[in-house]
Amino acid sequence: MQLPVNELFPTLQGEAHWTGTPATFVRLQSCPIGCPWCDTKHTWSLNPADQIRGVEMMAKEKDAPTYAMVDAEDLVQLVEQNQSKHVVFTGGEPCTYDLTEVTERLLKKGYRSQIETSGTFPVRCTYLTWVTVSPKVDMPGGYKLLPSAIERANEIKMPVGRPADIDKLRGVLAMREVSCEVWLQPLSTSPKATALCIEEARKNDWRVSIQTHKFIGVR
Ligand code: SF4
Repeated sequence: MQLPVNELFPTLQGEAHWTGTPATFVRLQSCPIGCPWCDTKHTWSLNPADQIRGVEMMAKEKDAPTYAMVDAEDLVQLVEQNQSKHVVFTGGEPCTYDLTEVTERLLKKGYRSQIETSGTFPVRCTYLTWVTVSPKVDMPGGYKLLPSAIERANEIKMPVGRPADIDKLRGVLAMREVSCEVWLQPLSTSPKATALCIEEARKNDWRVSIQTHKFIGVR
């Protein structure tokens, strides 16, 4: 199966459980969720006219809606060009695709996979893949959270901008039978949202995820 790869690059995971971990980020193209504050809107559409060759995708220097179709074997070879043992599938919404084959191939080669998803699509990957669900509730795309995706999460990383987001988080956690790591991530790293996250984390024994990569000048 081929996957539309917008970009593939080495960096540090800057958020939640794996913060500080050197990682290869694989950004997949397309997302129908429509979050107004999305900082990767260039990944939303999957337009055949934007398809480029793999070498061109790897040479990209600016955000653009262009993507290359890459099969699982070739994707592993691209990952092998970096030294990181951690691979993060992000987007876009990576769970619009079946990631079973590529995560299996990576596992066999000794890599750890992580998926960052909105929780609105089935999560298809190896059972050892770390799944980060960043729940997107009541977004313009109209997609509902999937109970199976919420249950599969190893961590819930909630984008928080106002108190109503904490209520939404409680609704998400009520969908799970067992607890998992809960992270509050201040929207746009605003001081007001950060203060709210700290306050709620204290009260509920949750954690605060700061987008650390934005402070150290890596993307
Ligand atoms: S789910 Fe992620 S990629 Fe999709 S619109 Fe929301 S923030 Fe953007």
